Amino acid sequence: MPRYVYDFTEGGRDMAGLLGGKGANLAEMTRMGLPVPPGFTVTTEACRAFLATGSEPDGLAREISGHLTVLEQAAGRRLGQPDDPLLLSVRSGARFSMPGMMETILDIGLNDDSVLGLAKASGNERFAWDSYRRLVQMFGSTVMGVDSALFENVMAGLKEARGVGDDLGLDASDLAGLVEAYKELIRQETGEYFPQSPAEQLRRAVLAVFESWNAERARVYRRREHIPDDLGTAVNVQTMVFGNLGADSGSGVAFTRDPATGRPGVYGDYLSNAQGEDVVAGIRNTVPLDELQRLDPESYQQLCGHMRTLENHYRDLCDIEFTIERGRLWMLQTRVGKRTAEAAFAIAAELVDENLISPAEALARVNGEGLARLMFPRFDTSGLGAPLAHGLPASPGAAVGAAVFDSAEAVRRAAAGEKVVLVRQETNPDDLPGMVAAQAVLTSRGGKTSHAAVVARGMGKVCVCGAEQLSVDPVARRFTANGVTVEEGTVISVDGSEGAVRLGSLPLVDSAVMRYFETGEQGERSAGLVDAVARAMGQADSVRRLGVRANADTPEDAARARRFGAEGIGLCRTEHMFLGERRKLVEAMILARTDAERDRALDGLLPLQRQDFIEILAAMDGLPVTIRLLDPPLHEFLPDRTELAVRVAATEAHGDAPDPHDAELLEAVNRMHEENPMLGLRGVRLGLVVPGLVAMQVRAIAEAVAERKRAGGDPKAEIMVPLIDAVEELHIVRAEVERVLAEVSAETGIAVDCPVGTMIELPRAALTAGRIAREAAFFSFGTNDLTQTTWGFSRDDVEAAFFSAYLDKGIFKVSPFETIDRDGVGRLVEIAVAEGRAARPDLKIGVCGEHGGDPDSVHFFHGAGLDYVSCSPFRVPIARLEAGRAAL
Ligand code: PEP
Ligand code: MG
Repeated sequence: MPRYVYDFTEGGRDMAGLLGGKGANLAEMTRMGLPVPPGFTVTTEACRAFLATGSEPDGLAREISGHLTVLEQAAGRRLGQPDDPLLLSVRSGARFSMPGMMETILDIGLNDDSVLGLAKASGNERFAWDSYRRLVQMFGSTVMGVDSALFENVMAGLKEARGVGDDLGLDASDLAGLVEAYKELIRQETGEYFPQSPAEQLRRAVLAVFESWNAERARVYRRREHIPDDLGTAVNVQTMVFGNLGADSGSGVAFTRDPATGRPGVYGDYLSNAQGEDVVAGIRNTVPLDELQRLDPESYQQLCGHMRTLENHYRDLCDIEFTIERGRLWMLQTRVGKRTAEAAFAIAAELVDENLISPAEALARVNGEGLARLMFPRFDTSGLGAPLAHGLPASPGAAVGAAVFDSAEAVRRAAAGEKVVLVRQETNPDDLPGMVAAQAVLTSRGGKTSHAAVVARGMGKVCVCGAEQLSVDPVARRFTANGVTVEEGTVISVDGSEGAVRLGSLPLVDSAVMRYFETGEQGERSAGLVDAVARAMGQADSVRRLGVRANADTPEDAARARRFGAEGIGLCRTEHMFLGERRKLVEAMILARTDAERDRALDGLLPLQRQDFIEILAAMDGLPVTIRLLDPPLHEFLPDRTELAVRVAATEAHGDAPDPHDAELLEAVNRMHEENPMLGLRGVRLGLVVPGLVAMQVRAIAEAVAERKRAGGDPKAEIMVPLIDAVEELHIVRAEVERVLAEVSAETGIAVDCPVGTMIELPRAALTAGRIAREAAFFSFGTNDLTQTTWGFSRDDVEAAFFSAYLDKGIFKVSPFETIDRDGVGRLVEIAVAEGRAARPDLKIGVCGEHGGDPDSVHFFHGAGLDYVSCSPFRVPIARLEAGRAAL
């Protein structure tokens, strides 16, 4: 039989899968000799067994009672002992942190007798009744399922009757009356009495925490964070310590350095005479941790010492929850702390300088997603007056949206396509859907460790919290700040880096990191951050095996990609060169009735194409440029069929003869109409049925190469054939390409030798890659089409049509058009790589679908043995960073 319970003295940080993150770290701190209230952890395995069967696993009760006895013996008191009760907290703690998503029950062990003992032992009657009141309320709602609003109503009624503003105005006898009222409420709502047996309280609390794994908000959070649904949570049962015993007590949250900027120095929030929950909930405004130095210098010094110990031990930023009970410091939790992208880069660089980690470890601690966030623009506030309100810069970035005042409204408007900012006094886990839907979260209360701040940071969402000048009225659906009233729907700009809120939609400026990539200059502003990013990029470049190229089809994009570190162009889509003015020439080519007419149109296109290629080859001089022959269905260059038909019909309805050009176009459009154009006449098929098209494009490329060579350049054009199904297609087109290359070489007297390769973007091509490789100098996976044709999903339609249902049902965790589907599409890639290389060992292989810039997919392509990834210019730095991380 598995073992379900571990004492804190038995576990360690490497046991997070079994003990959850919190349990593993409590055990680690216990082993390090830090002052952790004693306790034990019920494993995630017990939770999984409970969720699978719906009943308490065999043997669990016995194990819990055994560990409880050990705790009781050490404490010299029994759980709920009437004259001096041992009290316990019961908290969730999953493998991955899910802040506030699951349940916590405090003060287990109090009942009608032991509350009196607690009052006597603590010398504080009010405290004892307040603790009992909290237990009955938490247990009643969490374990017994009574709507928590009903408890709040009773509390509100009592406060009104006593004429007091908050619960601190209620005295011991008020609270004793409240306990009775709560117990009666539970009896009425459930037909059951609040259990007086401490052992039963404990047992039921543990099971309720198990159940909270499947609460709606926990599921939503997991989906958003891609946390698997089948992990289950551990449960930590720990001796209670009290931060609410008076002015010499309190609770706080601390970070070993600033989690927003990464700057060194302890940092956090403290609330005196309060329990930890009060700090995180942001119910009262906290004071900065420095204040503790004044209030209780001894505890402060101890805390700083423990923080240093933890940071040296974990070799990373740690966040900590602590409680001071009558001048005695207790560590309640630690973990490697969440941080903003900016802080991640800054801390990684700092820790290298402090010799705590190696440059390779530093690289492992940053990621492409964070880098992408740092490349976001920020607001341009130059010349603007003071903001409407200031708050704490809790999660950086710039966001604009309409102010909304509850989660449901945020979800509703966002679903209709509107950008919104969720404005609340403070948030709680029920606000999660609205936070997901919003561009930014703005609260008037709570510190940087409040729920809003922690959750928003985790989601990479802009957040300003504790903006005290804001008076939020969720009922009237408006807020006022500095005399200005902002009604629901009014557009506001939220700057999570500065902690400011402004009216209207502010203009944006590039980020310092983006400017660095653009210019190579570090600049003054954010010099530390830019330096940290530059160091991570340098490290990534020195270890990565994958090359990184860009998808670019203009000289400007090519030049930018090169500045961003691209080592060539992996995909130059020539169709983008056929737009605008040139459309007329394409139209003429399509409408041509004779060879001569078609040749004339192609002759018109030739010099334009040649000039495009000359400029792109110049921008990428010395680096490979993979130019793809025309790919999309030709009708994309003609007017819309319906519009054209309506125009012709309307003219005819007036009794006029239609414009002959329109009539001719309509006839062509009708002739070329396809039900499934993405599976129709496109890709290599065009080259095989439209005479002269391949020859014109290849001539333009070859002449451009000759021209660049003549000018002393080093052009490295590669010619790529799209949408191959069968090797025979490639064979025919390649012969044509080589004929034209030879022709141009002879005409110009300059040897033009371009490798000819193919895209692999259809399953058949992947499955017959061995044969295709004999005709191809290189492969480039077109994973957009390969995903479309492997799944049978139209890449243009599905995301709107049914992907959200698929994501909800867990059929996939992320769109396969965003992150490569390793099992299906990835398998085809692996087959094609293996068979392609077996046939031609020097085959160059890359990828140029969108996946080339997606972090997870980059890791897959590294593992699959590709030579390079190619992605949009802006994602080049991200791909470089991730390619480096993949090689660690
Ligand atoms: C692809 O299919 O992945 C690809 C790069 O080609 P396109 O997106 O142009 O079809
Ligand atoms: Mg394609």
